[in-house]
Amino acid sequence: MMSTTSRNPTVSKIGTIPTGVELLHDPVLNKGTAFTDEERDALGLRGLLPPHVHTIKEQVMRVMENFRRKPTPLEQYINITALQARNETLFYRAVLDNLEEIMPIIYTPTVGEACQRYGHIFNRPRGLFINAKDRGQIAEVLRNWPRADVRVIVVTDGERILGLGDLGADGMGIPVGKLSLYTTCGGVHPNQCLPVTLDVGTENEELLADPLYIGLKQHRLRDADYNDLVDEFVDAVQEVYPKALIQLEDFANNNAFWILEKYRNRICTFDDDIQGTGAVALAGLLAAPRITGGGIADQTVLFLGAGEAGIGIGDMVVAAMRAEGLSEAEAMRRCWFFDSRGLVVKSRTDLVEHKRPYAHEHAPVDRFLDAVEALEPTAIIGVSGQPKTFTREVLEAMAHINERPVVFALSNPTSKSECTAEEAYNWTQGRAVFASGSPFDPVNFADQTFVPGQGNNAYIFPGVGLGVVVSGARLVTDEMFSEAARALADQVTPGDLKLGRLYPPLSSIREVSAHIAAAVAEVAWRRDLATLERPEDVLGYVKSQMYQPVYRSYV
Ligand code: NAD
Repeated sequence: MMSTTSRNPTVSKIGTIPTGVELLHDPVLNKGTAFTDEERDALGLRGLLPPHVHTIKEQVMRVMENFRRKPTPLEQYINITALQARNETLFYRAVLDNLEEIMPIIYTPTVGEACQRYGHIFNRPRGLFINAKDRGQIAEVLRNWPRADVRVIVVTDGERILGLGDLGADGMGIPVGKLSLYTTCGGVHPNQCLPVTLDVGTENEELLADPLYIGLKQHRLRDADYNDLVDEFVDAVQEVYPKALIQLEDFANNNAFWILEKYRNRICTFDDDIQGTGAVALAGLLAAPRITGGGIADQTVLFLGAGEAGIGIGDMVVAAMRAEGLSEAEAMRRCWFFDSRGLVVKSRTDLVEHKRPYAHEHAPVDRFLDAVEALEPTAIIGVSGQPKTFTREVLEAMAHINERPVVFALSNPTSKSECTAEEAYNWTQGRAVFASGSPFDPVNFADQTFVPGQGNNAYIFPGVGLGVVVSGARLVTDEMFSEAARALADQVTPGDLKLGRLYPPLSSIREVSAHIAAAVAEVAWRRDLATLERPEDVLGYVKSQMYQPVYRSYV
């Protein structure tokens, strides 16, 4: 029988670490071919690696060569997430250096397709799966996570994944992807990030019938059973990771609103679909008047879709209008909603609670085009998850009403977008001030090239999370999101606006996140919500705290 020698962990410059093959299999510590000769000698790696020592830059070259050779975005997703499981430093270096190319793969739109096929492309688990059978022992499950200093948890129950509906446990791709962006864009250390899926079952019959589905094969827990599980999860997090921010993600709106309301004033939490979306869209609406003229208080906004995203944006817009001097009633009157049953008006008896404050006196309207013509909005915002609903007639009407109509087609992924960038520019003779949820390529119209901005939540949440971490904020408030939106809008340059872009380029995301983090942390210090001391130079301190994907020396 062959015998194997196992090596003991060793004390290195950064503490006790494993050696030999075990070190190569530790994605946090692994450097692959970048281990130096000295490290190879000291850490039992001689012979386990080919002799040439590569720089991280050379390794990134190899990563990108392989990534680009993959024939489809889904294959690229599989390829790049496999790297994340092998060598995190190299993964983050590659993503950060090639953000515009890789972000649409690890996040929307490709992550949506990856979630739809999660059980089929599943390779090794990432994140923590807490399921309905773990009731009574969720704290123990949390303790199985190998890292102690968790500061940011992104949690979903998989019921409304992007605009794709109930994907059950296959929704895990979302917390995993969002936390990758926390690190890449916001510089939150990967060791401090924990993706969680609450697997409470699924109503998706296709998944239930699929032998490769990874989740519980049962229908969703509802009512008290569901609520108790969420409560236990929140309590367990307070016990095991008391410093962690909980970001709620892709819950269906019948749960998202109550969970947020229940916990937002008790623990450090926010809902990205409501508040993050609100802030990113508000930032676009704050930047848009620099093209269209006027200010936010001069806008009339008509939303297509009155769910988490729509109401989240509406609430932020109202707060911003009030800051510009409107009363609450005046501000609300400037925000109109159109849902699957028509214009949200006072006489409707079918409105759920979150829509009622926006139900104004008006005759019922069944068609969105009619609502546009009746209300003459300056901006339309698509958050319905229904593709092609900003029709040619709708866009032509907007261009007829406004010199520079503001059109945000925010539904994700790309297949769900209310219109494409090309349609927005073509059908308004190049006058639309356009932003989308998923990325679109630049569009040539007449002699001009337009670069559509992406109202991507990734502009906001990583900076908010970092701001919470550096200040030790106890709560996340709406004021923090308003300040985050302003900080983001302030980063939009005249050059960006000239290209029609309402958001800064993704390549400057770290700078943007640092400013957002500083603005959020300032709110925490100003409102007495911080548990950590305020440094003299807040922005400088924030930047100094950001994780850099560089290899550390072990010997
Ligand atoms: P939700 O389920 O809470 O709300 C959807 C809303 O759309 C509901 O009010 C529903 O009544 C309405 N709706 C459905 N069909 C409609 C129709 N035919 N006409 C008019 N309204 C209709 O979902 P949500 O969380 O609000 O997300 C909606 C969309 O917004 C998703 O596609 C999501 O990906 C996208 N989104 C984008 C961003 C972003 O780009 N930054 C952020 C969050 C959400």
